[in-house]
Amino acid sequence: MERGAKLYEGKAKVIYATADPQVVWMEFKDEATAFNGQKRGTIAGKGAVNARITGLVFEKLAAAGIPNHLVQQLSERVLLTRRVQIIPLEVVVRNIAAGSLTKRLGLAEGTKLPAPVLEFYYKNDDLGDPFVNDSHIAVLQLATPEQLQALCAYSRRINEILVPYFAAAGLELVDCKLEFGTADGEIMLADEISPDTCRFWDLTTGEKLDKDRFRRDLGNVAEAYQEVLMRLERGTAL
Ligand code: UDP
Repeated sequence: MERGAKLYEGKAKVIYATADPQVVWMEFKDEATAFNGQKRGTIAGKGAVNARITGLVFEKLAAAGIPNHLVQQLSERVLLTRRVQIIPLEVVVRNIAAGSLTKRLGLAEGTKLPAPVLEFYYKNDDLGDPFVNDSHIAVLQLATPEQLQALCAYSRRINEILVPYFAAAGLELVDCKLEFGTADGEIMLADEISPDTCRFWDLTTGEKLDKDRFRRDLGNVAEAYQEVLMRLERGTAL
C-alpha cells in the first residue's frame, strides 16, 4: 500500500489518501499538545505506542461487535482505516471524576461516579471544543437524533467492554474520549483510543499513566505510555 496525498494534519496524526478511495493512511506523530494547543511538546516514541494501543483496542472492540474504522496496522506508526465522514462531536465517557469535570461540578479528583457519565463536546478549534447538550446538537445539526442515540448506545457499550479490558492490564479507565464517523451511511467508531485520549490510573497505586503526565509536567511521560502498551500486550497474550 502506497501513501498518497495528504488529506488532513491534526495535532497528533496525519491522514493520507491511499490507492483505495475507501481507505486512508493514519500516521501517528510524537508531537503532543494540551490546553487547546497552548502547550506543545514531543513525547519520544508516542506515535508508535499510540498506533499499537489503538490497533489492539479497536481489534478488541471489533471482536465484541463494535463497528470501527480499523482495517489493519500497516507499520509501526501507521494504521490503515476506513475513510469516514467524522461526526463533529467528541463523546467523553467518565467513570471517575478528573479533569474538567472536577472543575465544573466541584467534585474531588478520584471521586467514583455511581454510574458512567456521558458528555458531548462540539469539535471546533476556534470555539475551543465547547460542551454541548442534545438541543445544541439538534439546532446546530451536528448529528441526527438517530445518530445521537447510536452514539450514546455505542459509547456506553464501549465503556462496558473497555473497563474490564483495561482492568485486566492493571489499569483503571478513569475517562475516555470517543469520536465516530459515517461510511456508506453506517456509523462506526473512528479516531484513536490511547493515553492521549483516555485517563489511565494504576489500579493499585493510582499512578497516572496518561497524558496528564504531560499536561501537568509530572515527568516520565514516554515511560508511562510504554507501560500502558506493555501491560496491554501482556494482557492480550494471556
Ligand atoms: N480529551 C481528549 N481530547 C480533548 C479533550 C479531552 O482526548 O480535546 C480526553 C482527555 O484526555 C480525558 C477525557 O477526554 O481522557 C476527558 O477530558 P476532560 O474533559 O477532563 O478535559 P481536560 O482535562 O483534557 O481538559
